[in-house]
Amino acid sequence: MLTRIYGLAFESEEKLKEYEAMKIEAEKRDHRKLGAEMDIFSFDDDVGAGLPLWLPNGGVLTEELEKLAKETEFLGGYDRVKTPHLAKESMYKTSGHLPYYEDSMYPPMEYDGGKYYLRAMNCPHHHKVFAARPKSYRDLPLRLAEYGTVYRHEKSGELFGLMRVRSLSMNDAHIYCTEEQFADEFRAVNEMYLKYFKIFGVDKYVMRLSTHDPKKLGEKYVDQPELWAKTEKMVRDVLIESNIPFVEVPNEAAFYGPKIDVQVWSAIGREFTLATNQVDFAVPARFGLVYTDKDGTQKTPLCIHRAPLGTHERFIGFLIEHYAGNFPTWLAPLQVAIVPVKDIHVAAAKDLQNKLRSEMIRAEIYDDNNSLGKRIHAAKTLHTPYIIVVGDKEIESGTLSIEKREGSKEANSAEEFIKKISEEIKNRS
Ligand SMILES: [Zn+2]
Repeated sequence: MLTRIYGLAFESEEKLKEYEAMKIEAEKRDHRKLGAEMDIFSFDDDVGAGLPLWLPNGGVLTEELEKLAKETEFLGGYDRVKTPHLAKESMYKTSGHLPYYEDSMYPPMEYDGGKYYLRAMNCPHHHKVFAARPKSYRDLPLRLAEYGTVYRHEKSGELFGLMRVRSLSMNDAHIYCTEEQFADEFRAVNEMYLKYFKIFGVDKYVMRLSTHDPKKLGEKYVDQPELWAKTEKMVRDVLIESNIPFVEVPNEAAFYGPKIDVQVWSAIGREFTLATNQVDFAVPARFGLVYTDKDGTQKTPLCIHRAPLGTHERFIGFLIEHYAGNFPTWLAPLQVAIVPVKDIHVAAAKDLQNKLRSEMIRAEIYDDNNSLGKRIHAAKTLHTPYIIVVGDKEIESGTLSIEKREGSKEANSAEEFIKKISEEIKNRS
């Protein structure tokens, strides 16, 4: 009989205490606990294990993240595409997912005399978008983006809240480029990460660059020694030039190219793997992807797979812990809670709600039969950034009394408040 025993060692008593404090804080911030309290997501036996349902508050989070991604990608010169969630067996044979990745996929559906699979990755569909029209060097770099939903078979024992699920929506994109364009494209991807880290207040991050092992060419890695050496050097050089902290891990690359895992630390110092970027110099050839170069010859592009915001599931799980549910105003499911003191104040509360909503601000009225104290408490369980109480005094004076989530209070006219909060939302501050 073998018994496995785990141990943790710390450099000092202080470090141990820090670790213990982090564990307690992490429990309080557990995304499964806060996600339920804040009505963000849910699971249902009839839908199936590992298939999360985004409740309306979670729907807001996913929408806001997609809006951010779409704006950022538009500015980065990406084109948006939409592709189906399933495809025929033949495509996954071409991509190499079958048979190598079959264990991670849902079993096939027999249909129309063939087999269809739910997709576990978006790449093959995007390669087909590339192939749909002839391409010339003028079309490159081509950046195809989609918040693509994929389905993966995870063992039921390994499912864990939003962190390990069977359906995931990925902030995916594939960049098709020439070797000459690669460094600039890869640098732009890194800059996008840094932009997001700034928005979300992620101060600690590191990129893990996984490289190949030259002794295992042809078995574990595509047998193209020059391309390996060249792309690994290109990636390393960009990481060094951009001053991005990274570690190099030999013999961990993907079959078709070096990969970069992005590790981030939440506000309480817990580590998450956010996303993986991959450089791919083999699969475009398997799909026969070509462009016509200046000299009239047909060439195969390189492909960069990237997903800076990872999947909605993992990223929102991370954000819940990172912010302890206190989402910044632009992201908060409910931005303003309006609490009328008595029934006679409901009309004024509705008037204020209409003003806010016409400026696209998410505002709800708390006017059920409970006491004022209870209604304010209910608004606070959603970690609402602003709570506005409407009573005689406020109506007479024409000023709002605003309680901020941190506890401070201020008085302001409705116009001033709308101006300030709109600015805060627009800047995602
Ligand atoms: Zn991909």
